[in-house]
Amino acid sequence: MVMDPVTQSLTELHRRVSALRGGEVAAYIPKLAQADPEDFGIALTSMAGRTYQVGKSETRFTIQSVSKPFVYALALTDLGPDEVLKRVGAEPSGEAFNAISLEPGTGRPANPMVNAGAIATTALVRAGSPAERSRRILDWLSAFAGRRLDHDEEVYASESASGDRNRALAYLMRSAGSLEDDPHEVTDTYFRQCAVRVTAADLSIMAATLAKGGLNPVTGQRVVAKDVAVRTLAVMATCGMYNGAGQWLLNVGLPAKSGVAGGLIAASPGRFGVALYSPPLDAEGNSVRGVAALTEMSERFALHLMHVPVHLTSTVTETVTAARSSRARSAAETEALEQDDRRIVVIGAQGELEFTETEQFLTEVMSVLPTAPGGLVLDLTAVTGISPGPATMLAAAVANLEQRGLLVAVAVQQPFLDRAECRPGAWTTTRDAAVAWCEDRLLERGAPR
Ligand code: GLN
Repeated sequence: MVMDPVTQSLTELHRRVSALRGGEVAAYIPKLAQADPEDFGIALTSMAGRTYQVGKSETRFTIQSVSKPFVYALALTDLGPDEVLKRVGAEPSGEAFNAISLEPGTGRPANPMVNAGAIATTALVRAGSPAERSRRILDWLSAFAGRRLDHDEEVYASESASGDRNRALAYLMRSAGSLEDDPHEVTDTYFRQCAVRVTAADLSIMAATLAKGGLNPVTGQRVVAKDVAVRTLAVMATCGMYNGAGQWLLNVGLPAKSGVAGGLIAASPGRFGVALYSPPLDAEGNSVRGVAALTEMSERFALHLMHVPVHLTSTVTETVTAARSSRARSAAETEALEQDDRRIVVIGAQGELEFTETEQFLTEVMSVLPTAPGGLVLDLTAVTGISPGPATMLAAAVANLEQRGLLVAVAVQQPFLDRAECRPGAWTTTRDAAVAWCEDRLLERGAPR
């Protein structure tokens, strides 16, 4: 069997990192101590929804703290960012995951990635009863994974029997006024949330869903709104690795989240989600092999967020200097349209129009302008996204060209037509209609000279 190049590269990474010893399997939750320290799996899910797996990528383990960013996303969806921020901060605490990180005065937990903040976040999930809250969390995590997940009842019972520190955190928050719910009930829901069973393959799809702006690349389902995905990734980047978060951002430069069962996810926005499973943990509570593997991967594939982004495709697709529509025209009309000052220039663009792309495209447009009163068609039918800033730049350019006496028509995909920015010029959904519109206007302007 020929191995695909991604699996091959993950296999080599797996082989190198497998040799790494050190770290301790978590034992403060007794059941977790039974994990096999040799288990090591890697899974990566691309934006196209392909999952590549190596080693123990189908071994089931409990999600633990890797659940925290996803439940945070649920709370954000339920309550909106402002309401959530009032109850749970977004500042890295620089402390251990189980620290008493509460803001002096308000008792508000530092961030949703440490236990205190995660427990407070779980309490924000809308529900009429603890059972409903647990069910909603399980449904939510399942949507990210793209399959029905379940609980590991033994790990749940084990953590419940030994979870006094987390209960203490919850009681502390209630006495400080930052938790309204019953501490016992909330921590019980939190223990259930931590005991959801996943595989590295599941976690890679969950991470890929965040990396794809909330769209599950395997099921095609929109699980969470784009802005919520961005917020979640931001908190993962600053707080996801607890007291190792600063070092992590230096070395790896990706939003990530670890769990005490040995799971670790990272999201490379617009590229992929990756998950590792290896139970031995370092002093910060992060998987030793997971951290090593991701550090290496980030270096080899230049994944660090602060790298200057590479523009993979060129924005301008083509320039047509004398375009005609498919409309039937009389001989006189044809002759009229063949006059040089009735030339119609078409310039096409593709992909996402962010600042750089738009600046490039508009510079290119300025260099191919016909003489007035010629027509200019901006064919943006292959453009998949325009941010508000670039849309405003585009509209301003169109208005400016109209002032210079040019006819300007813009062809875009249907959803862009409804946007407020689309005012100056003629906007249609096909290049042909845009060219025909220019022709009609040029013909209206009188007989050929
Ligand atoms: N359930 C665990 C706890 O609260 C989760 C901690 C973790 O994964 N870091 O202690």
